Amino acid sequence: MSLLVVGTVAFDKISTPFGHSDKIVGGAATYIALAASQFTKKINLVSVIGDDFPKEFLQEMKNRSIDLQGLQIKEGEKSFFWEGKYHYDMNSRDTLDTQLNVLADFDPVLPESYVECDFLMLGNLAPSVQLSVLDQLGNRPKLVVLDTMKFWRDIAMEDLKKVIARVDVLTINDEEARQLSGEYSLVKGARKILEMGPKYLIIKKGENGALLMDRDNMFYAPAMPLEEVMDPTGAGDTFAGGFMGYLDNSRDISFENMKRAVIVGSALASYSVEKFGTERLLTLTEEEIDHRIQLFVDLVDFDILLVD
Ligand code: AMP
Repeated sequence: MSLLVVGTVAFDKISTPFGHSDKIVGGAATYIALAASQFTKKINLVSVIGDDFPKEFLQEMKNRSIDLQGLQIKEGEKSFFWEGKYHYDMNSRDTLDTQLNVLADFDPVLPESYVECDFLMLGNLAPSVQLSVLDQLGNRPKLVVLDTMKFWRDIAMEDLKKVIARVDVLTINDEEARQLSGEYSLVKGARKILEMGPKYLIIKKGENGALLMDRDNMFYAPAMPLEEVMDPTGAGDTFAGGFMGYLDNSRDISFENMKRAVIVGSALASYSVEKFGTERLLTLTEEEIDHRIQLFVDLVDFDILLVD
């Protein structure tokens, strides 16, 4: 199977109550592709960077079988830059700076070998770019997943609605789900969002886990309680990458299998937040992933007798 990943490949500057980073590599597509590469070896990436982006990092991605033919490199231009500061609870953050740079006039061109794809992950970036990628595909992928951010809702809501109408799964955090639906109740909100197009909705609740929903079913995955969280940046993207990579590898997009994929995504995200940026994802092993998945199973495993 093949997975096409669209999103930012970027520089981030992050500060949390427990430390701060200099300018480090980040970006939605970076986290998604690195996480997915744990499960699938056919990943094609569509994005844009400037000539300031470290070549060694591109090599790291290639070493993980991430194909970069669709990554445009703009000579003399700067890569996308985002700066954020986390609050004490680490679930909320302020964006201090967003510099679109190369993203401002990005016109994605899908290489011939990307046009047929089984799974499409539309990571965070301009909805017009996401639409353009959808339009260039030669087939309808088996599953299209979308992740987006308040930033794009604020400046490109009309395009974003068009994208939402064309995807199968929308991943969104709880605050964004409330804003998008205008409902405080996530259950009522989910119903409204599912009417906008997607068949499935994943509501991410940071350290309170994630909810997977369709019109008839609901599944809750906890987040792993961790002793230390250094940097939550990219947790949502890592979750999405693990979710997609697992589904792509298992070739099964039933609700039952999505439940497993949500646990796998949560396990990967729980590692990602242990260190700043992508550092932890770059050293992650299969044994560690298995170990953490088992901890998730144990975390919610209990015996109970019904009261009557
Ligand atoms: P997450 O913490 O999962 O929401 O993702 C954080 C990543 O998204 C960072 O690595 C940023 O580079 C990237 N990012 C931040 N703002 C935007 C934006 N407006 N569009 C696309 N990517 C962004």
